[in-house]
Amino acid sequence: MRWGAGSISGDMTRTAVLALLARRGPLSRAQIAEMLELSPATITQGTRRLLAEGLLVEEAPRPSAGGGGRPSVPLSLVPGSAHTIGIQVAHEHVTGVTSRLDATVVHSFRHAFDPASPDAVETLTALIRSEIEEIERRGLPLAGVGVAVPGIVEPETGTLSMSVRLGWTGLPLAARLREALGVPVFVDNDISAVTAAERLYGPGADEADFLLAAIGQGIGLGMVLDGAPYRGAAGAAGEFGHMPVQPDGPQCVCGNRGCLESLVSTEALLRTAHEAGILPAESDLDDLGTAARHGDPAAVQLLHNAATLLGRALAGVVNLLGPRSVIIIGEITAIWDLLDDPLHEALLDHLLPAVRDTRIEVRPWHDEVIAASAARVVLAAPLAAPRQRG
Ligand SMILES: [Zn+2]
Repeated sequence: MRWGAGSISGDMTRTAVLALLARRGPLSRAQIAEMLELSPATITQGTRRLLAEGLLVEEAPRPSAGGGGRPSVPLSLVPGSAHTIGIQVAHEHVTGVTSRLDATVVHSFRHAFDPASPDAVETLTALIRSEIEEIERRGLPLAGVGVAVPGIVEPETGTLSMSVRLGWTGLPLAARLREALGVPVFVDNDISAVTAAERLYGPGADEADFLLAAIGQGIGLGMVLDGAPYRGAAGAAGEFGHMPVQPDGPQCVCGNRGCLESLVSTEALLRTAHEAGILPAESDLDDLGTAARHGDPAAVQLLHNAATLLGRALAGVVNLLGPRSVIIIGEITAIWDLLDDPLHEALLDHLLPAVRDTRIEVRPWHDEVIAASAARVVLAAPLAAPRQRG
C-alpha cells in the first residue's frame, strides 16, 4: 500500500493501522509494517498509543513461521472501543449511521429534510444530537461525527463554500455543528468521503491510483493519485459532471449548457425519457431499465447514447490521469447492465493503448453508502481533512 509522498504523519499512521486492522486484522506489527510499507519502528510507536487508548489489544503469541524466530503477537481492534456517527445530507433527506471502530454499522436512520428551510442547520443539529444521546444512553464511547454534503467543502475548515443542490453557500458547517454538539465534527464533500473510505477500507485500499465516479442525480469524481486523495487548490477538484460535452446542450444546474451531468445524470435520463414520451411522468429509473430490458428501442437508444457520452468523457479523464481502475458508484448502477457494453465500446474507441487495461469496477450501491463512508471519514480525518479538528 503506497501512501502519497509526505502524507504519512503520526495521525496518518494511526488511521492507516486502524483501517488495515478493520479490513485484515488480526496482524502482527511486522505484518502491519510490511503491508503499509512503513518502518517497524514507526508501527511499534504508532500501535503503542493505540494499545494505551484501548483501541487495540494484543492476542496470544503465535509461533513464528518456520519455528526459528521470536513468536509473533497479533494485534486486533477492540470493535466497541470507539463509535462514530456518519451523516449524509442530501436535498430531500438526511441519512445517518452509527458505526463501530471495525466499520460495522450498528444503527441507521433516514429522515425527510428540507435544506431550503430557514432552520435547516438546527434541524440537522437536532437529528445528530438525538443520535449522540442514544449512543450516550447506551454508554458507548463516541469518537466523532462525520458529515458528507454535496458541494465544495474547504478540506481544512469544513466550511461549505458552495452547494448548488442544497442551496447553501459560505456555511461554516463543521464549526457550527461542533459548537452546538460539543463533539469532534468533520465535514467533507460526499464523493471525497466515499473516496477516502474506499482508500482506507474498501477493495481499493491496495490501489494507489484510482478514480471513483459517482453517478446519480449529480455526477462527481473522487481521485486518489500516487496514494493520496487529490482535492485541487480549493477543494473543488472532481467536478466531472460539469465537463462540457455538448455545445448548446441542455442547461445544467450550474448555469452552463451541455455539461455531462445535464445529459447523463439519472435526473437527465428521466427528463429526456419523459420529454421523448418513452416513459409516463412520475416513472423512475427502474421503469426506464425495465423498458430497455423489454426491448423498447427508444429506451435502448437513450441509454446507448448516454453510455457512449459517459464512456467518451471517462476516456478523456483516464487518458489524462492514468489510473489503474475506475470505480463506479451511485444510483446509475441499478441499470449498469444496460450501459456496460456501449460504455466499453466508447472507452475502447478513445483510450490510448497505455491505459487500455484500466479496470472499470461497479460497486454495489445502497442508500447508506455515503453515510457509512462519512462515519469512516471521522477515523480517516487526517487523510480527508488534515486540520479539521475539534
Ligand atoms: Zn454544469
